[in-house]
Amino acid sequence: MNVYADNAATTAVSQAALDAMLPCFQDIAGNPSSLHSPGQRAAEKLEEAREIFARRLHASPREITFTSGGSEADNQALRSAAALGARKGKKHIVSTKFEHHAILHTLTALEREGYEVTLLDIPPDGVVTAQQVKDAIREDTCLVTVMFANNEIGTIQPIAEIGAVCREAGVLFHTDAVQAAGHLPIDVEEMKIDLLSLSAHKFHGPKGVGVLYVRRGIPLVNLIYGGAQERGKRAGTENIPGIVGAAAAFDEACANMEKNAAYLTPLRDKLIAGLTAIPHSILNGDAQRRLPGNVNACFEGIEGESLLLLLDAKGIAASSGSACTSGSLDPSHVLLALGRPHEVAHGSLRLSLSEYNKPEEIDYILEVLPGIVQYLRDMSPVWDELEQGQRPHII
Ligand SMILES: *Cc1c(COP(=O)(O)O)cnc(C)c1O
Repeated sequence: MNVYADNAATTAVSQAALDAMLPCFQDIAGNPSSLHSPGQRAAEKLEEAREIFARRLHASPREITFTSGGSEADNQALRSAAALGARKGKKHIVSTKFEHHAILHTLTALEREGYEVTLLDIPPDGVVTAQQVKDAIREDTCLVTVMFANNEIGTIQPIAEIGAVCREAGVLFHTDAVQAAGHLPIDVEEMKIDLLSLSAHKFHGPKGVGVLYVRRGIPLVNLIYGGAQERGKRAGTENIPGIVGAAAAFDEACANMEKNAAYLTPLRDKLIAGLTAIPHSILNGDAQRRLPGNVNACFEGIEGESLLLLLDAKGIAASSGSACTSGSLDPSHVLLALGRPHEVAHGSLRLSLSEYNKPEEIDYILEVLPGIVQYLRDMSPVWDELEQGQRPHII
């Protein structure tokens, strides 16, 4: 059996998104900046897509900018808020230790440019509190950026509460909602979000398309200069097929959100129960306040990489955490921030489901996984020492 359980890394394009995209490759192939009819037909498609995102986020179309993905949206959001802060002499930014690298590495670059960054600690349940944010805000804070849902452990942050704290303090609030968009309700008005990033390929849209929501009145800085596309804030001929597919996927995901969550939550909980029944394992992140499709656990005495290879040999595509740090042997910064010791963080497994997964696939994972963990432990000298009592079990 083949099981794709890495939907937090990327998803397959939905049929609805593909159907919406296909005409845009040949029949509607004009440049939206052109004045002729083919160009204007493409421009209409572009604006229809913008309206879909605006409606679903409770924003207005003018507040929606299309980018090349979540990473670009994150970069542009942070640089825009930082530039605005600098104009007022405010160069302090509050974020968290478990953000995506698109945020963390942008913050590192801003630090080199003279900004000061406070990264909040991650509580043991993987949920940052609004009080932590409140305590970290200073006179010179220009921006708070806290992710909506974590991409590795799936925990959901109290975004509305954090938004209220920021609005009260007069500080801009950005959220990287890449993992949340299409999976959790988002209302930028009610949640007092000033800037928000999302990415199409995390909700069955195409890769290479992102959205940046920016509240009216907040000026964007350009990352890319050139033509007047996206009201002069993001140059380059628009990726019409991609943007149209992104909007169709988002519309579909939002329309089916409750149904998908109701389908996925019991599958997730079954996986959690099965994984944590393996001795010396631990769930990462709160069991309830997490994305409906996210499971992340550590197994003592094994290497996550070996586990992934053996799962792949059984047809199961999973992850040890983030696709972006795979390839490096460093343990996940998210699990370290959560307080897992290095040797435990190395033995992590993330299974991320979508509504395309079938219940039989969950049974299959639970059928093969315990044996693979045992096989790896039997080969491990570290496990031997743990079992002989030469070193204490940590989990
Ligand atoms: C995937 C992801 C990104 C990056 O989005 P891309 O479209 O791949 O650039 C940013 N933040 C989070 C939380 C993600 O999961």
